[in-house]
Amino acid sequence: MKISHIEHIGIAVENLEQAIPFYEKAFGLTCYAVEEVTDQKVRTAFFQVGQTKIELLESTDPEGPIGKFIAKKGQGIHHLAFAVDDVAGALKHAEEQGVTLIDKGPRKGAEGLNIAFLHPKSTFGVLTEFCAE
Ligand code: ZN
Repeated sequence: MKISHIEHIGIAVENLEQAIPFYEKAFGLTCYAVEEVTDQKVRTAFFQVGQTKIELLESTDPEGPIGKFIAKKGQGIHHLAFAVDDVAGALKHAEEQGVTLIDKGPRKGAEGLNIAFLHPKSTFGVLTEFCAE
């Protein structure tokens, strides 16, 4: 497997309508897309920072993954996403190294990317995502 860069950092927020203007005004960034990912029960907002994106995540359902995360831990950094050449290959490599997978194979995430998550219990507490175009 080969990681080229950090594709994005996911940040859980309670309210995109408050968080987007904050990122724009406090940091001078521009939100270039807002997208709902229904199977993840989130609305996402994207900002480009060099090669990396900031992905703000607002829950659309208290029972969804971001709703549960905020209820337990509050707002803050939710996950780290590595850009890889091949998600299936990266998952296979990670599994061979003893990493527990959340997703056994790639699925479609925001921006049409192929994504998969690794379990934070086996990655020193960091929910880790692989993604590829
Ligand atoms: Zn992500």
